[in-house]
Amino acid sequence: MTAPGWKFDNSYARLPDGLFTRLPPTPVAAPGAVIVNHRLAEQLGLDLAGLPEGELAAVFAGNTVPDGADPIAQAYAGHQFGGFNILGDGRAIVLGEHLAPDGRRVDIQLKGSGPTPYSRRGDGRAALGPMLREYIISEAMAGLGIPTTRSLAVAATGEPVYREQILPGAVLTRIAASHLRVGTFEFAIRQGPDALQALVAYAIDRHYPDLADADNPALALLDAVIDRQADLIVEWMRVGFIHGVMNTDNMTISGETIDYGPCAFMDAYDPDTVFSSIDLGGRYAFGRQPKMAQWNLARFAECLLPLLAADPDAAVALAEDRIKSFESRYRLRWQAMMGAKLGLAGFDAGDSALIEDLLAWMRAGGFDYTNGFAALTEDSAPPGADPVWLERWRARRGDMGPAQARMRAANPVYIPRNHRVEAALAAAGEGDLAPLTRLLEVLSAPYERRAGLEEYESPPPEGAPAYETFCGT
Ligand code: AMP
Ligand code: MG
Repeated sequence: MTAPGWKFDNSYARLPDGLFTRLPPTPVAAPGAVIVNHRLAEQLGLDLAGLPEGELAAVFAGNTVPDGADPIAQAYAGHQFGGFNILGDGRAIVLGEHLAPDGRRVDIQLKGSGPTPYSRRGDGRAALGPMLREYIISEAMAGLGIPTTRSLAVAATGEPVYREQILPGAVLTRIAASHLRVGTFEFAIRQGPDALQALVAYAIDRHYPDLADADNPALALLDAVIDRQADLIVEWMRVGFIHGVMNTDNMTISGETIDYGPCAFMDAYDPDTVFSSIDLGGRYAFGRQPKMAQWNLARFAECLLPLLAADPDAAVALAEDRIKSFESRYRLRWQAMMGAKLGLAGFDAGDSALIEDLLAWMRAGGFDYTNGFAALTEDSAPPGADPVWLERWRARRGDMGPAQARMRAANPVYIPRNHRVEAALAAAGEGDLAPLTRLLEVLSAPYERRAGLEEYESPPPEGAPAYETFCGT
């Protein structure tokens, strides 16, 4: 094929054998490019605009494997809703690692690319709607400045996929700092000490190279991953993002958000909000995300135990100490984030109460999370806001000038509203991509209110049925 600038160096494929299976994507009947992220391609040094459409579609559907790629399916395990399972890329292939002009190394992964040895009972395929949904939400997260995998393209396969109905098939090309998950370590430790050791060294080299010389590299890695995850969850809480399926196989070591399945953004503030149809117990509800991140990190720490200290009791003590410390690390970040949402400089003794009281009246009154903070950013109260609280806030906040700059950076005006996402996907299903591309454009600059985009600020219409999302579609 014409070389559009791929620069592959496939370090993962040089890891011990059991951690992956080498196999190409399964070709599809009729590749067609649905959407291509040219802005992202440019950042990656890929000249896709110059490729004939047929070649573009063939690459992103998995029919043509680019020169230099070394396609693999990665093995991993995971605690899914608390229960352990051996998993792996059941419907994804990592083509390889591309070296971008800015020096970044990124995985190029095709999702929906056909069966692999890890497919279990699945067909290895994906439907167009969910792949476009991942495209929208991941690009929205990037626009919000939140660490995330990116979406480079969606290609149609020209083949049906059979779910509860017959749907058009598609392949998503996903870009990630890596696909190392907590679950990758849960798999490696079951492969034996050599695999685990190799994976730990690899993770440090790829994501935390400064830690290679630490006295205790495994402990330093645990600390670094705890920090990244704390950073990430605080970012989710800032914008009202609910991941929906925070299983250990869906939590990265890099600290990027990954696996946009049943995720969605909260409208009315309520920490108990759940969208996923299968999350009956509310395990991954909005307000439980920090707790679940800590739970996942404990599973990560367990994998590292053999490397933390020679004495098992000492290793457990180190791990427990670090997992416990997630709480204070998270709390400090959360306070700083909420302080920024309220335009506060620093954090005073009374600020916790100020924040808790705000969230209490927002919850009781069913206030829209995004619009509530967006109103405060303009120093105007959302209708029905607690006047006593507003007075306290204004006294504490002081001059609006400097406060507003902090607030504008912390409080988005536009989020991917569920009803907007659904409308864009419905139109795309009918072959009309205009609403989707317009939505993407709006979400690419979410902090800056623009004239004519009022409709993108509205929560779902009053009386709309509760939004429900689905996994593994
Ligand atoms: P997820 O819930 O999307 O994180 O996926 C959990 C596991 O199920 C992963 O190992 C996926 O590769 C696998 N999986 C999901 N959908 C399919 C499918 N259609 N075919 C094969 N494997 C799948
Ligand atoms: Mg997953």
